[in-house]
Amino acid sequence: MTTQSFTSLALAPRFLANLATLGYHAMTPIQAESLPAVLEGRDLIAQAKTGSGKTAAFGIGILHKLNPAWFAIQGLVLCPTRELADQVANELRRLARGVGNVKILTLTGGVSMRPQIASLEHGAHIVVGTPGRIRDHLGRNTLDLSNVQTLVLDEADRMTDMGFYDEIEGIVKACPQRRQTLLFSATYPDDIRFATAAFLRDPLEVAVESQHGAEQIAQRFYEIGFEGRDEAVARLLRHFQPVSTLAFCNTKVHCRELAEHLRAQGFSALALYGELEQQERDEILVLFANRSCSVLVATDVAARGLDIANLDTVINADISKDPEVHVHRIGRTGRGTESGLALSLCAPNEKKWVRLIEEYQDAAADWHRLDELGEDPDGAVPAPMVTLCIAGGKKAKLRPGDILGALTGDAGLRKDQVGKINVGEFASYVALERDVARDAVARLGDRQAPGPDFGAIKGRYFKMRFVEV
Ligand code: ADP
Ligand code: MG
Repeated sequence: MTTQSFTSLALAPRFLANLATLGYHAMTPIQAESLPAVLEGRDLIAQAKTGSGKTAAFGIGILHKLNPAWFAIQGLVLCPTRELADQVANELRRLARGVGNVKILTLTGGVSMRPQIASLEHGAHIVVGTPGRIRDHLGRNTLDLSNVQTLVLDEADRMTDMGFYDEIEGIVKACPQRRQTLLFSATYPDDIRFATAAFLRDPLEVAVESQHGAEQIAQRFYEIGFEGRDEAVARLLRHFQPVSTLAFCNTKVHCRELAEHLRAQGFSALALYGELEQQERDEILVLFANRSCSVLVATDVAARGLDIANLDTVINADISKDPEVHVHRIGRTGRGTESGLALSLCAPNEKKWVRLIEEYQDAAADWHRLDELGEDPDGAVPAPMVTLCIAGGKKAKLRPGDILGALTGDAGLRKDQVGKINVGEFASYVALERDVARDAVARLGDRQAPGPDFGAIKGRYFKMRFVEV
């Protein structure tokens, strides 16, 4: 595979410098194939798996032609869920540091309209939102899309699956005819092809396979002193803002200490080490997989055999003395996801281990300094979801559909605010969007309930609690 540098693109030096501080050195395949055409202003249909770097592919396109001095909505990104919209907005904010003062607004459901309307009155350059809420704003005349230059349909297949087609059609009509339209999708079946054909003008089509190995992992080494290791991890997390991170420590004691330090800083971090009860371990893995925990701090033994999808970052809080273990650790992030980030901290006395890794990988370590990372003013980002544990599972004949039904019925949540549902033998776990979860679950209780911590599902009361991270 050839790696292509971002410097081959016609981007401003300041913008390129910012990409370098984000650790973006080589373009991912989807970026390499789409960015030249995107920067020329062509419409695009891009098909690539999760984790392939699609956000930057359109983000760079939007920002490249954005005029920060013009206070109008110039870019609109539609995403299927609030969670994805938040992720995209965060990534755009990081990319926008190379442009200047760019106002990026998220407009999604689950929060009241009024603050969104107030923000819109203050003006924004880019709006990222879900089709339903954007449509609501259009219906109330609180959103002006007449200056949109770039329209992005992100995860188009999921949006159509979720029945957003009519909303999308209405939104596209509210955008000017002369615009650039970029469509991203993990799959591109005929029905979506037909449905979206009218939105696109002579689009370039690119599709990228997702089979890539270690060359898709950006690996960086950070030299640290003999102290401040845990704070260095927090700093990396604040800077890179990954959604899911596996952080390795060499000992159980350090695992617990690091997870505690991160929690104290506002991260949703949990420690996974041997000696945990099976049930505790299972619970932790459920929370990590359903995005209620964004940093899993683990020892090698505990992490063995863990299959974690969508892991964007591995951090070696302690470097491994065994280069093979090191390569195994970082290989967890290049998997289904195409580009991964592997960050390793190294104190002066540990340099010898890095030399072994260099020999083993036959590549020189890419050294960086912690102080070249600007402090992120946003601070720690908590996990997007929280988990509700329901004291009932298969034995009680509880099914995922029953839980979803109660949450979207009595609790009043939208389907996309409910995440993964795991039904075990005796207990079930369900992930809910953090900001709306507690109010919604409270609505499952009523005066007939046997206690304040009971909620009704399909006419039966179950004890339920939120799992603290
Ligand atoms: P997708 O939308 O295709 O699922 P994302 O845009 O969310 O993927 O990118 C996945 C991860 O890869 C993110 O953490 C992002 O910051 C990172 N990333 C994107 N492009 C690059 C790059 N060129 N080099 C290194 N990391 C990148
Ligand atoms: Mg994406």
